Amino acid sequence: MRLFSATIATETNTFSPLPTSLAAYKEGVFLGPGEHPDTTPLMCTAPLWVARRRAEADGFTLIEGSCFAASPAGNTNRADYEWMRDRILDECRAAMPLDGVLLGLHGAMVAHGYDDVEGDVIERVREIVGTKCVIGVELDPHCHLTMKRVRLSDIVILYKEFPHTDVVERAEELLDLVLATLRGQAKPVMSLYDCRQIGSYPTTLPLMRAFVDKVKSLEGKDGILSISIGHCFPYADVAELTGRILVVADGDKAVADAMATRIGEEFVGMRGRTAPEYSSVEAGFEKARAHNGAPVVVADPADNAGGGAPSDNTTMLRTLMAMRAESACLGPIWDPIAVRLCFDAGAGAEFPLRLGGKTGPASGPPVDAMATVLAVKRDCWQSFGPTQVPLGDCAAVRVGGVEVVLISNRTQALGLELFRNLGIEPTERKIVAVKSTNHFMAAFGPVADRVIYVDSDGPLSRDYRTIPYTKIQRPVWPLDEATTPGLIL
Ligand SMILES: [Zn+2]
Repeated sequence: MRLFSATIATETNTFSPLPTSLAAYKEGVFLGPGEHPDTTPLMCTAPLWVARRRAEADGFTLIEGSCFAASPAGNTNRADYEWMRDRILDECRAAMPLDGVLLGLHGAMVAHGYDDVEGDVIERVREIVGTKCVIGVELDPHCHLTMKRVRLSDIVILYKEFPHTDVVERAEELLDLVLATLRGQAKPVMSLYDCRQIGSYPTTLPLMRAFVDKVKSLEGKDGILSISIGHCFPYADVAELTGRILVVADGDKAVADAMATRIGEEFVGMRGRTAPEYSSVEAGFEKARAHNGAPVVVADPADNAGGGAPSDNTTMLRTLMAMRAESACLGPIWDPIAVRLCFDAGAGAEFPLRLGGKTGPASGPPVDAMATVLAVKRDCWQSFGPTQVPLGDCAAVRVGGVEVVLISNRTQALGLELFRNLGIEPTERKIVAVKSTNHFMAAFGPVADRVIYVDSDGPLSRDYRTIPYTKIQRPVWPLDEATTPGLIL
């Protein structure tokens, strides 16, 4: 048996002021065949990493392709997308004959001229490998689960957890199902239910937790191979932006249809009850200061780099400074210029520094303050579950009573190393302010005495009705009250 695996991935916020080019992939994941490290999977590369570890024991040959992944931002440059895609397609062609293909994709990538990048990739892979080859795809739940990509694949599996702590488990399942299909032990058929809704679904809150646990309990019996919950990615102007339920059943389409409908109807019934409550930034920090216990983690999703925001909005910092907060740390602020200046000033220096507020109107005004450089460090990283996320060169400065972590590789707050790299121990601070929607919960949730969500004036609005969509298929909740959810595949 011969299997090919490759990755091309990012999450595209088509409204972001930050275009994405090869430079962003080189800062993220940019690996040729065989270059992927053994230690951990990287962004969206779990299918390749898992297949490499299991090839010998499971009796197949893995032909590795390239892996490209970039932090979320604006549309990928067309020529750069086509270059990466064609490189993977050339590798796939050279690897023929193939029995199976494992694609590690994100699912919400948009390039100029390609609203459905994953559909384009899968279509071209299918043209090369033919109809008998089994194509398995792993996606992030923040994806656009388009009909095209589901039609052209054999098995699609999404991560179930948000924060995405089950990337490896789902890749293991994908490989299990692809191998079972190739051995004639399974005949996957897929059904897709369109919930016609936009929402946010952290699985750290009770309602979604129970829903995911229930969905998991329905898998592996009664002919159900896999159930995926597509959350959607709200910050993209694409037609098929909506929550969808995908069911893979063994040979019986009617069984898949029934389960997709049952789970889809239940998901529709949860509208408006799955996201946390958000405070204003000021109220959130006042609550944190008044809380008897520490640390209190205060999270702002509106400037989450993980959703394509610049992560240099200054509202949290300005609010902490205005209230003269003590024992507070904040991160990350993406500001490579400020990092450079801190390296030039050196650890221990006190100098006037302009922080943040650089990328666009939603970044807010910059903060000009006397800053003490606490530490500077090259090539930092933070962990996210089993994966390592590069932060680039970083600096920590103290501005009043607030310690601020400045990063060069734009990403959200994921691991405690974000602060610890630079000698700040977040568990010993009263207030830990992070820019992240919910991925921070994997590492910061367990050490927090309390978690408070705030909604700043950053670019990722929680009110989806304010997003200037032009291509989205209507009706869709909450843009429209009356919608018509149903089975579409
Ligand atoms: Zn995601």
